[in-house]
Amino acid sequence: MKILVLNAGSSSLKYQLMDSTTEEVLAKGLVERIGTEGEADHSFDVGGSKGRESAHMDGHEHALRAAIAALSADGGVIDDLADIAAVGHRVVHGGEYFSASVAIDEGVLKKLDEVSPLAPLHNPAAVACIRASRELMPDIAQVAAFDTAYHQTIPPEAHHYPLPRELYDKYKVRRYGFHGNSHRYVAQRSADLVGIPLRDLKIISCHLGNGASIAAIKNGVSVDTSMGFTPLEGLMMGTRTGSIDPAIVTFLMRQEDLSPDEVDTLMNKQSGLLGVSGVSSDLRDVLDAQEHGNDLAKLANDMYAYCIKRYIGQYMATLGGLDIIVVTAGVGENSPAMRASALGGLEHWGIAVDPWRNFEGKEVFTGGLDGEFKISATGSRVKVLVVPTNEELMIARDTKALL
Ligand code: ADP
Repeated sequence: MKILVLNAGSSSLKYQLMDSTTEEVLAKGLVERIGTEGEADHSFDVGGSKGRESAHMDGHEHALRAAIAALSADGGVIDDLADIAAVGHRVVHGGEYFSASVAIDEGVLKKLDEVSPLAPLHNPAAVACIRASRELMPDIAQVAAFDTAYHQTIPPEAHHYPLPRELYDKYKVRRYGFHGNSHRYVAQRSADLVGIPLRDLKIISCHLGNGASIAAIKNGVSVDTSMGFTPLEGLMMGTRTGSIDPAIVTFLMRQEDLSPDEVDTLMNKQSGLLGVSGVSSDLRDVLDAQEHGNDLAKLANDMYAYCIKRYIGQYMATLGGLDIIVVTAGVGENSPAMRASALGGLEHWGIAVDPWRNFEGKEVFTGGLDGEFKISATGSRVKVLVVPTNEELMIARDTKALL
């Protein structure tokens, strides 16, 4: 059975066609600069043959047509649309409506429109893509998988903010959390790798990419996570502040005469690794600058690592113990230096990283997938694992299950 997974950003569309039986990726592609004045750029790999094309594209429907054309071209991976059993859509925000993936109907679309103000940059694109997909493939089942859904199990004392109650009642201001499909995937994968059922484990999952979040997972469910009402809260990130004293916001607005939009840009786009180091939002560049003696780059890297460590301590208390730390995404999967700083010095808590395993990455598991390895030392009470994330696979599995 072939499942098409779609991930629509405000001006982009990522897609993957997956064989849901073998879980093999048959084709994938990326369309960028949709809806801009110039030409959109479409790159794809269909059945191992790579291609690239440029053309003006008005909106997501246009991009989706281009994707389908690539999938069904001569030597492609589908003969016609009927070969696609279902479409799974990544949707960032499900508000309080959705605690799991859901088959899309008009009622679901209405709820998605309702929660769009909570994710104004992301949800409208996903909804546009869902509508286009339903129009192009009216007979094919469509499923929505949410970044927020997995965290709906976070209990009230952890998901509410200490604000006047009416703001929650009026606007649903609360912690939602994001990266749910990633945390869910790496937690399940970690359980499989250590051979212990997920329901018996206490896990801290660290998704460290451009956006970064940590989740505390107890008996298979999320009990807390660092991102909050928006993806700005929590860890220091590439360009985002993460958590800061909220009074800094009003102070800067007054002192610098900043509008809400300007302060939003400051905290989301100009801060984090980029803001502190003045070098880059990309950890590779900041680590490199530190190597060359840049003190601000060192400070940025130290702050990034310390932030992760602080959450690990916090979530050990939340979980009442710990069995596994799993790290994933660009930084987590690829930076032994950051893993060493963030997870070092925790031996007293039963967390011991083995430098050789961390830097060489050769402590693989029998039957493990590419990029999966263990970095904790022999005898470390807490197992520390590196597991490449696969959000698309989670979406495809949910889509198949809902068929
Ligand atoms: P996104 O959140 O956009 O999906 P990724 O998970 O791909 O991001 O992570 C991207 C980030 O991972 C980059 O900005 C970079 O900082 C970091 N990264 C990737 N490779 C390395 C590496 N070898 N060393 C350090 N950082 C890396």
